[in-house]
Amino acid sequence: MPADNHHDVIVIGAGLAGLTAALELEAAGVDVRVIEAQNRVGGRVHSMRQLGNNKEAGGTYIGAGYARLIGVAERLGVELVDVTPMLEFFREQDFVLGNEIIRQSEWADHASNPFPEQDRELLPWNYHRVLTMRECPLESPDEWLDPKHAIHDISMRDWMHGLGLSDEIIRIGYGINVSFGDDATDVSTLLMFLRAAFSLEQRAVAPQGSLGFTAKDGVQRIPEAMAGALTNEVHFEKAVTAITTGNNKTEVRCADGTVYEAPDVICSLPFSVLKDLHVDPPLAGTQAQAVKSVPYQSMTQVYLAHKSEFWKEDGYAASMYTDGVAGMVIAARNGEDPDEVTSFTTWAMGPNAHRLDALPDADAGRRVIAEIEAIRPAAKDQLEFIELKSWGTDPHALGGWAYFRPGQVNELAADMSVAHGRIRFCGEHLGFKSRGMEAAMESAERVAREILLRGQ
Ligand SMILES: Cc1cc2nc3c(=O)[nH]c(=O)nc-3n(C[C@H](O)[C@H](O)[C@H](O)COP(=O)(O)OP(=O)(O)OC[C@H]3O[C@@H](n4cnc5c(N)ncnc54)[C@H](O)[C@@H]3O)c2cc1C
Repeated sequence: MPADNHHDVIVIGAGLAGLTAALELEAAGVDVRVIEAQNRVGGRVHSMRQLGNNKEAGGTYIGAGYARLIGVAERLGVELVDVTPMLEFFREQDFVLGNEIIRQSEWADHASNPFPEQDRELLPWNYHRVLTMRECPLESPDEWLDPKHAIHDISMRDWMHGLGLSDEIIRIGYGINVSFGDDATDVSTLLMFLRAAFSLEQRAVAPQGSLGFTAKDGVQRIPEAMAGALTNEVHFEKAVTAITTGNNKTEVRCADGTVYEAPDVICSLPFSVLKDLHVDPPLAGTQAQAVKSVPYQSMTQVYLAHKSEFWKEDGYAASMYTDGVAGMVIAARNGEDPDEVTSFTTWAMGPNAHRLDALPDADAGRRVIAEIEAIRPAAKDQLEFIELKSWGTDPHALGGWAYFRPGQVNELAADMSVAHGRIRFCGEHLGFKSRGMEAAMESAERVAREILLRGQ
């Protein structure tokens, strides 16, 4: 075996989690090698440079309280910018129900609005977020796994029913183009409370009038800068297929036949991917159960160019939130002028994503365009398919993010990050006080600390 393949620690995966763990260990003098299946770093942070204007396919929003991510960006000289103008679509989008397009200003008094009197102003895409933030029993995100909150590990449907809300409210306030699960029966309320507590924490520290940050020239610049700061360069196109762990030696095998060896291995792969790796001895107990059963959210984005400003013709907002395969139609503003719509990205989530994933890319693009044209005739022949990104079918992710079904938090969460022999696990799914990119880094700091403490 080449000396280059023998290190103190092998880190599998060059996303934010793997790179954070490697940097932490290197800073303490440990010899680390990161290996990565793709030919780029970042994983689910993916700035689509080939499309121009750094359209983000993955992690974009950096909360003001993302201390780890903001800290590393500052240390490595990656400039952060206010994300608020780019997220304008959240405020401006009109709502499509069936074939009807409903202006935001009409929603409160609209006949299809099923929300209770005091909530009629709330928009469908915000409804469950506002509700979980308003009712959140967690004082802070780290209370999440406190046994006193175990009673909330029930479905969002049961919880919303418990508040006296009807099936129609649940359908419109949770079930349209869902970000977690296939519908309100499929996701744990306790997870949604963690998310709510984390969002409240971000809001509390955000500068006045700002939602948070993103990275100038694309968020992928952050993992790239992290990889550039490592002493040992990342080995690309090393798709791991098997890990064998013993008392003092762990062996990592890749699809191209390369073998790496180290006493310790950090595996930052999503469980959706880890599930198909050969691990010897096999994972056991709750952890094996978690790897097999923690679900990942399907999400598929379609990138569209526009030939004209058709929204000025029909007078509706450029962005829309729809109940069909177009999902959330985002008028992206990635140029110098925050008022200029530079392109469109549609986000199909859950069942909508499955429908698109069943089609060849160009057909899926055509289906999305046809749906937009049917809703607003002014868009006829004005949109052009550029590209599609499916996270659900990306073999290196197999989903955008992990979520928990009702009962899975109590059953799995506390034990799913335990070490297996000399393999330790990290990644966004194993962050317990935060969410998204910050969770990936939180989990990585924990495993790096565990290795360093054991070495003392
Ligand atoms: C569409 C989308 C939007 C998002 N928006 C936000 C947001 O706005 N804010 C936020 O905070 N978070 C957001 N997130 C979540 C955030 O991007 C992720 O939580 C985070 O980037 C995950 O980092 P990670 O290191 O845990 O995993 P990953 O980034 O997935 O890293 C895992 C790495 O392992 C590699 N790998 C996979 N298989 C193998 C193999 N067999 N062998 C070797 N390497 C392998 C992958 O290529 C990848 O590089 C978003 C995610 C998506 C998908």
